[in-house]
Amino acid sequence: MLKDTTNVSIEEIFRLHEEPINDKDKALIKRAYDFAMQAHEGQTRASGEPYFNHVVETAKNLARYGMDAESISAGLMHDTVEDGRATPEEIVENFGNDIAFLIEGVTKLGKVKYRGAERHVESLRKFLLALTKDYRVLMIKLADRLHNLQTLQYVRAEKRKRIALESLEVYAPLAHRLGIGKLKGELEDAAFPYVYPKEYAQVVEILKSKSAVTEGYLQKMQVRIDEALKKEKINNFRISMRMKHKYSLWQKLKRYDMDIEKIYDLGALRVVVPTIEDCYHVLGFIHSIWRPLPGRIKDFIALPKLNGYQSIHTTVFTGDGGITEIQIRTYEMHGRAEYGVASHFSYKENIKNTKFEDKPEKFVWIKQFHELEKENIIQKKNPEKIYKDMKQDFFSDRIFIFTPKGDVIDLPEDSSPIDFAYAIHSDVGDHAIACTINGKYSKLFTKLKNSDIVKIETKKDSHPSSKWNDYTKTTLAKRHIRQYLDSQEGIFSSILKRFK
Ligand code: MN
Repeated sequence: MLKDTTNVSIEEIFRLHEEPINDKDKALIKRAYDFAMQAHEGQTRASGEPYFNHVVETAKNLARYGMDAESISAGLMHDTVEDGRATPEEIVENFGNDIAFLIEGVTKLGKVKYRGAERHVESLRKFLLALTKDYRVLMIKLADRLHNLQTLQYVRAEKRKRIALESLEVYAPLAHRLGIGKLKGELEDAAFPYVYPKEYAQVVEILKSKSAVTEGYLQKMQVRIDEALKKEKINNFRISMRMKHKYSLWQKLKRYDMDIEKIYDLGALRVVVPTIEDCYHVLGFIHSIWRPLPGRIKDFIALPKLNGYQSIHTTVFTGDGGITEIQIRTYEMHGRAEYGVASHFSYKENIKNTKFEDKPEKFVWIKQFHELEKENIIQKKNPEKIYKDMKQDFFSDRIFIFTPKGDVIDLPEDSSPIDFAYAIHSDVGDHAIACTINGKYSKLFTKLKNSDIVKIETKKDSHPSSKWNDYTKTTLAKRHIRQYLDSQEGIFSSILKRFK
C-alpha cells in the first residue's frame, strides 16, 4: 500500500520547499526516503498508522521551513536507528558522516533522563549544546516535535501533558530565539489545547464570533490593493491574509481584559514587495485609500524589533466599520521573519555546519550559555533555580544596548549597567564605578531601556559590593560578583587569622 503512494508523498516534500530542489538533492532525498521506508516496514504508531508516515511528515515540515536536502534526508531517517531497524554504520556507509551526525544528534536530543524541572533543564542544555554545533539538528528535532504534537491525541494523558508543556516552555521559545516565527506559532498552537484546555476552548469560541467577519473585509481589501498595485506598476508583489495564531491571541487577550474588540490584528493583510522603496510607496498608497488609525503606524524597517524583525505595520479603518492591520515588507524581510536562521537569506552562504560560535555578535546568549556550561555552573545548582535562571538569561524579553562605538549587547529586560559592563568584559564589570546612559551621568543601578547607549567608567581600585546582586539580571554578572565577594571573604578571614 505504501509503495503506491511513494511518488505522491515525495513529490509533496519537493513541492513544499519554497525553492526548487535540484536533481542531485532530489536523488539524495529519494534514497533516504526508501531507506527509511525499509527500516520502518511493518511498524505502526500509537494512532495505528504506519510509523513511516511520521518521518514523512517530519520531512515535510523541514521542507516547508526551507531546510536543505541533508536536513530533509536526516529528517526522513531520524528514527531509523532508535525505533527502526537500521544501524549507525549503515547510515554512515550509505549517506556519509554529515547526515549520520545529524541523525545521531537528533537521537541524543530525544534521550532525556530526568523529570520535572530537571528534565526541562536537561533538554534545554542539550538543545543549546546542539545549537552551537549545527543548528540543523535542532530544526529536525523541532520538525519532529511538531508532528508529534499534532498526533498527541493518541498518546496517554499524562505523557500528553508533559510533551505539550515542554513544547511551550522549551521548544517554542527556542524557535522564537532563532527568529523562526512561523514554527514558534505552530508549536504553540499544537500544544495549547493540551496545556490549557479551558482557555483554548475560550479562544476558539471568541474566534468563532469574529473570524468570518474579519476574513470578509480582509478579502475585499485584498482585491482592492491588488488592483491598485497593478495600476501603480509595482511588479512582483504578493498579498496574503493571516489570522493570528491562537496561543499568541490568548497571550494578547490576557493583556486586554479578554476583550477581543481591543485587538486590531486578529487578522492582517501582508503585502510583500521587492524593495524597501516599494514598501514606503505601498504605505502611502494604502493611506490614500483607507484612513490610518493615529499612533498605530509602526516603522520596524527603520527601527527593527529586538529579534531583527522588520516590517511596516499600519492599522486602518476599513470603511465598513472594521479596523485592521496591514503589514508591508520585502521578500527578504519576510523570509527572515518566517524562517529566521533557516531562511535561505541567512543560511545559503554557509549551508553546512552553521556554527553559532562563528557569529558571536549575533548570538551572545549562546556564548554566555557556553561559558556557564564550561564552568559546570549549570550542573551544580538546584534544577528549579537553574531553570529559572536559564529562562531569564535566554528566553526573557531582550533589550539591545549600544556601546558608544555602536556595538550591540543583547541583554534580558530590566538589566542594569552592571550587567552590561560584565557582558563587555569581566574586568570592566569588576572595576565599574559609574556610567553614562545616552550621554547623561547615571547610577550603575539604573534599569536600562532598549537602545540605550551606555558608557561604563572604571577605576582600578573600585570593586563590586554585595548590593550589586540586587541590581543584576544576568547569571554572568551574578557569578562574577559572587566570585569577587568570595575571594574577598578569603582574604578577610586570612587577615583575621593573623590577628588571632
Ligand atoms: Mn520522531
